[in-house]
Amino acid sequence: MTTNKERIKIIKNIYYREALISFNELKVKLIPGQRKLIHNEPIIASNFFLDANGNPFPPNTDNSPKNIYELMKCTESNPIIRSMKSALINMVYSNQNKNTFFIESENGEINLNNATFKSIYSEMITRTNTNKEWETKWLNYLESEENHALDWTTIWKKIHSKINNPHVISAQWEILHLNFWSSFKANECCNLCLEITNNNMHIATECKVLIDTIHELKINEYLTSKTILAFGCDNQLVNFVFYHIRKIIFRLRFKNFQNYQSARNHIFYRCRLSITLDLEERFLWATKTNTRTSFENTFLQQNNFELCQITESNKINLIV
Ligand SMILES: [Zn+2]
Repeated sequence: MTTNKERIKIIKNIYYREALISFNELKVKLIPGQRKLIHNEPIIASNFFLDANGNPFPPNTDNSPKNIYELMKCTESNPIIRSMKSALINMVYSNQNKNTFFIESENGEINLNNATFKSIYSEMITRTNTNKEWETKWLNYLESEENHALDWTTIWKKIHSKINNPHVISAQWEILHLNFWSSFKANECCNLCLEITNNNMHIATECKVLIDTIHELKINEYLTSKTILAFGCDNQLVNFVFYHIRKIIFRLRFKNFQNYQSARNHIFYRCRLSITLDLEERFLWATKTNTRTSFENTFLQQNNFELCQITESNKINLIV
């Protein structure tokens, strides 16, 4: 007998296959309302029909019943059937006229009967990332500075802050997952600084163009350690600039330049442009929606770091 998991793998359409894999991984559980409402529920490899030890019944090749109704009608008697019947007798019902479906998350149960799409989606994302091998890679990379686990909740919070636009966020996301193709993986020198690359982190934290650009945009004094260069500092506005720089450098990592100086100049220009366009777009929106004060509080300066001013003619003027 094949399990649902095996059946899903042979679906040809990638969209439906991936959707079902994700749904399957949610391990939806069920509290039956009444027995008649679960007649069609499968009893093999089920998330809610469990043996005395709390384990699902494994697939087997004999003619054992496939759903609750078949089990109720089954007259055979062998250890598996007896164990299944015992599970059926011990089943707890909510006595409502509908079944309750729920999934278990780190923050408690999510009832699917009234859950929002957002809460289910965020749970799916969390589960998809269960094999977080990049966390180990970063920890090994930073071992000279970090002797305990990294606080990934805080790291992702900095990146997903509303201060960062979606293009900036998605570049940081790719960088931190370390799956991207790079000069290091290609066994080549870095296209930007022309130096030998020793790891996939080169473009994210070590490239000379990156270091020069953070000096050029005057945020170097905030990025004082390898760990901060990897994930950002505590000043959100500094991170706003830093993540823009990283986005540009990351996206241009395979561009060919005549020499180091021309790579540097081009990247300085592109970083300033990227930051200015982002600020202009937000300022325009703030003006339209009467939220200019909020824009000014967020983007002009934070603590001692000044990013920009608004001129009398309502233009954004970068100070860095
Ligand atoms: Zn480089």
